[in-house]
Amino acid sequence: MTAPIQLLLIGAAGRMGLAITRLAGSGLVPGFRITAAVDSPSSPLMGKDVGVAAGLPPLGIAISSDLAAAIAAGPDVAIDFSAPAAAPATAEALANAGIPWVIGTTGLNDAEKAALQAAADRIPVMFAANTSLGINLLYVLVEQAARALRGRGYDCEITERHHRHKKDAPSGTALYLGRAAADGYQWNLAQTAVHGRSGITGERPEQQIGFHALRGGDIPGDHTVLFATDGETIELSHRATSRDTFAIGALRAAAWLPGRPPALYSMRDVLNLNPGGTS
Ligand code: NAD
Repeated sequence: MTAPIQLLLIGAAGRMGLAITRLAGSGLVPGFRITAAVDSPSSPLMGKDVGVAAGLPPLGIAISSDLAAAIAAGPDVAIDFSAPAAAPATAEALANAGIPWVIGTTGLNDAEKAALQAAADRIPVMFAANTSLGINLLYVLVEQAARALRGRGYDCEITERHHRHKKDAPSGTALYLGRAAADGYQWNLAQTAVHGRSGITGERPEQQIGFHALRGGDIPGDHTVLFATDGETIELSHRATSRDTFAIGALRAAAWLPGRPPALYSMRDVLNLNPGGTS
């Protein structure tokens, strides 16, 4: 029997942290042991047993804000669904300790992305705005569709719907799918992205990818990529019905990452979805 993978959870008291705890801590996803659970000192769950917080029997791990102590517990890998501002300090601490890092936090600014990249020179880092298999398969399909439709007059628009608590817009996943469309069309995403429309906007130019973010209720995440031309539309959609799909993907990445050379990996690497994939 192989030893369980020792997990450090960062953002442990959040919606994703608790979903991962429910799956890994109960053995529903086997092969893991949670060795530390870190969150912000302002979390109302600070000091509580992370198992109990997730609706399980106690796991004997209190939610703490002490990342250094959590690292000293010797985890095999860290899974981080927290806040963008946390990324630079986490990057530094994990890289100094040589701990592989699965990070699913979205809404990172350029400096925070640079911190990830710098860490990836020293440790394996898997960053994904969406860890579900479905969205990563959709990425491949959207890129393929845009490549086939390139130069044929198909407009591309991306809509996303999320729960009312989500802090960033558009979602990291919508931007990820926009990247797939832009790559397929061979367009520059930054130059073609438009975020919402209002007022007298004029006619839509062809080289544009529109992003539209809806917020409400408890929607875990819906995304649709629309290709529209005269006489027909094509819609490629993904609907998450539970956060478990993201949690399962993150755990899959946590099992895959330890032992890899330092680099910035994607979920498509983990799932072997890249054309000519290497894993
Ligand atoms: P959440 O607000 O429920 O949880 C975030 C947690 O991080 C909170 O408990 C918060 O207290 C904690 N936190 C804040 N600053 C921290 C710090 N410095 N150190 C440690 N913990 C800190 O949010 P959520 O729904 O769990 O999502 C978390 C992040 O993951 C968001 O960026 C979200 O967009 C992203 N997300 C990604 C995926 C994916 O598949 N990659 C899926 C869902 C959510």
